[in-house]
Amino acid sequence: MTGTQTLAVRHFIGGEWSSEGSAAQRENPSDTRDIVTEFHLADRATVDRAVQAAAAAQGAWSASTPQQRFDVLDRIGSEILARREELGHLLAREEGKVAPEAIGEVARAGQIFKFFAGEALRIPGETLASVRPGVQVDITREPVGVVGLITPWNFPFAIPAWKIAPALAYGNSVVFKPGDPVPACGAALAEIISRAGLPAGAFNCVIGRGDVAGQALVDHPLVDAVSFTGSQATGAKVLHGTAARGARVQLEMGGKNALVVLADADLDVAVDCALQGAFYSTGQRCTASSRLIVASAVHDAFVERLLARLAALRIGAALDAGTDIGPVVDQRQFDSNLGHLAHAREEGVTTLQGGERCEAATPGWYMRPALLAAQPHHRIAQVEVFGPVACVLRVDDYEQALALTNDSPYGLCAGICTTSLAHATHFRRHARVGMTMVNLPTAGVDFHVPFGGRKGSSYGPREQGRYAVEFYTAVKTGYMRAL
Ligand code: NAD
Repeated sequence: MTGTQTLAVRHFIGGEWSSEGSAAQRENPSDTRDIVTEFHLADRATVDRAVQAAAAAQGAWSASTPQQRFDVLDRIGSEILARREELGHLLAREEGKVAPEAIGEVARAGQIFKFFAGEALRIPGETLASVRPGVQVDITREPVGVVGLITPWNFPFAIPAWKIAPALAYGNSVVFKPGDPVPACGAALAEIISRAGLPAGAFNCVIGRGDVAGQALVDHPLVDAVSFTGSQATGAKVLHGTAARGARVQLEMGGKNALVVLADADLDVAVDCALQGAFYSTGQRCTASSRLIVASAVHDAFVERLLARLAALRIGAALDAGTDIGPVVDQRQFDSNLGHLAHAREEGVTTLQGGERCEAATPGWYMRPALLAAQPHHRIAQVEVFGPVACVLRVDDYEQALALTNDSPYGLCAGICTTSLAHATHFRRHARVGMTMVNLPTAGVDFHVPFGGRKGSSYGPREQGRYAVEFYTAVKTGYMRAL
C-alpha cells in the first residue's frame, strides 16, 4: 500500500468504511507531482454518525475485560511493529519526515500500544477504611465514555497512538480525527485497529478539516471528553467549545523551547543537542530547541561549530538515503516559515545562515535550515515558527540564561548543556516547563513517562505513561455498609 500509487482513504464509522463529503487530495511534500491520497472531507453529519456509533458501542466496550483489552491493544502494537518499514515509508511520503525518523516513529507507536496493553491489566483502584464504623470505602476508575481525539500532522502515528491506546485501554470509545495533511497515516492506523477485535463503533476515524470535523467533535453533546494536540490558537477554540458544554478537555500545544549552553559545557555535546533539537524533523516538533541561549564565553565558538554542522546537512527527499532534513510539510507551512524570516529581517535580526528556498532532485517544499542572531525582544525569538529555524541569544551567565528560559508564554521543555551539577540541578528545579533535559536535545522523549508542559503549552492532565489514567477515567467513590 505504500509504493507510489495514489491511495484512496476513507472514513471508518461503526465498523464500516465510507467515502462521503467533498473530494480532496494530498501531495507528497518531497515531490509535489506525486499525489499520495485522494479522500473525502467529513462534514458535521458524518462526524455525528461517528459519534453516534461510538456512543452506541460504549456499553459493550466498557464492559470488556482487562484481558480482552490487552489482547486488542497487543495485537495492534504487534502489527504496527511488524510493519514499521512499510508504514514508515508511508509516513515519509505523506508528511516528509526522513525515513529513519519515520520508521522510528512508527516503532514508537507500536511500543505505546504494547505499553497500554499492559496498563489495561493494571487499572488502579483503592480501598480505604471509613471514618465511620462498619463502612467500607473504595475508589474505582471507570471509562469517561466517548472521547474525541484531535491530532496534528507532525507525528501522525505516535500522537494518535498515545491518545487512542489509553482511551481504549481504559474502556472508552473513540472518534479520531487525524491532522489535515496526513489522512493516509490516520487511515492506515485505523485499518490496523479495525481488524483488532473491537466491537463495531468502539473506534471510529473521520478524515476532515479542523474547522468543520474537528469543531463538530468539540461541540457534540455526546462527546464526553476531547484530547487535543496542536497549535495554541486552535487549542483556545477547543477549550472554549468544551468548557461551554462542560466536557472534559486536555490540550497539548506549542513550544518555544530553550536550550541553554553554559561556559562549562562540552561544546561537542552542546552543538549536537542544538543541531538535533532545533533542525531534525525539519524543526517541526513542539519540543524543538528554537531558542539557543548561549553564554558569552563560548558563544562564538558554539556558533562557529554549529554553522559548520548546519552547512553540511543534506536537504532532500524524505525517502532518499542520506537525506538529513526533509521538506517542510506543505506550502502553507513553507510560506509561514518564510514570512517569519522576512519579518525578522525587517526587525533587524541577522541571519547567520540559511532560511532560503533550496532545490532538490524533485520539486518540493525544501528550505535551508536557518540560524539567526536575535535579541529576546525580537518576535522570532518569542513565537513558535514550527520550522527549521532557531535563534541564538547571547547571555552573560547562568542567572540571565534561566531568566530568559522562563521569559516565554510557553513552558513545554527546556534543556541545559553544562558540566556543573549545581547548575544542572538548579535548572531542573527552576525552569518553568513540563520537561527538562540535561546534556540532551529538548526533542526526543520516552514513551512510558508523562509528556506535557506548563503555561501556554498544556492544559489539563498529562498524557502518556501511567499518568494517562487521569484523563481517560472517571473516579468513583463507593461507600458500603455490610448488613
Ligand atoms: P493545528 O492547531 O492547526 O491543528 C491541530 C488539529 O486541530 C488538526 O487535526 C486540525 O484539523 C484540528 N483543528 C483545527 N481547527 C479546529 C477547530 N476549530 N476545532 C477543532 N479542531 C480543530 O496544528 P497543526 O498545524 O496540525 O500542528 C502543529 C502544532 O501542533 C504546533 O503548534 C505544535 O507545537 C503543536 N504540537 C504540540 C505537541 C504537544 O504535545 N505539545 C505535539 C505536536 C505538535
